[in-house]
Amino acid sequence: MTKINRISIHGFKSFAHKTDIPFSNQFNCILGPNGSGKSNVGDAICFVLGRLSAKSLRAEKAANLIFNGGKKKTPAPKASVEIAFCSKSKVFPVPEDEIIVNRTIAKNGNSIYRINGKKYTRTEVLDLLASAKVNPEGYNIILQGDITRFVDMSHLDRRKILEEISDVSAYEDKKHKANLELE
Ligand code: ATP
Ligand code: MG
Repeated sequence: MTKINRISIHGFKSFAHKTDIPFSNQFNCILGPNGSGKSNVGDAICFVLGRLSAKSLRAEKAANLIFNGGKKKTPAPKASVEIAFCSKSKVFPVPEDEIIVNRTIAKNGNSIYRINGKKYTRTEVLDLLASAKVNPEGYNIILQGDITRFVDMSHLDRRKILEEISDVSAYEDKKHKANLELE
């Protein structure tokens, strides 16, 4: 299993100041009153893992992910989220015992990704995360409303999700590509 050691959020959505959230070994739960930023923590996790669609992070556009100053404070110039994974048991194919992924987004919507302080492309970050079975669009992340969506969807759509989770669709994609080449 891939373990998160901590998350650090700075200038992202309602997190004006740098906020470190330590994660314990087992079950972690984020509690707080309505509107206190619980879902923003979930959005921050999806963001740092490389999720592209701003809408799926509950923002109109990428720039709206940056702390906007609220009513009285100064807006942040950029948003930065960091996630530290434990790699003591070598779930990631790198020598370090901890993998720190950082994503910083500027007002123009451009993102910079770093792994342990060094710049990488989004694809490189996604490849490294995939080696530990972490995926920003994966069904291991269940967001508010997802369950009702699963219940309401057609049998066919639900089957597609099962095929994706069980890795069948990856082979279907490869088969499709191979058939195209054969033709
Ligand atoms: P609920 O219990 O209702 O689900 P929650 O704890 O999940 O609430 P969030 O949705 O995480 O709350 O946070 C909502 C707050 O985040 C709102 O007050 C909203 O104004 C604030 N917020 C969202 N984007 C930004 C931003 N770019 N800058 C500043 N504040 C923001
Ligand atoms: Mg919420």
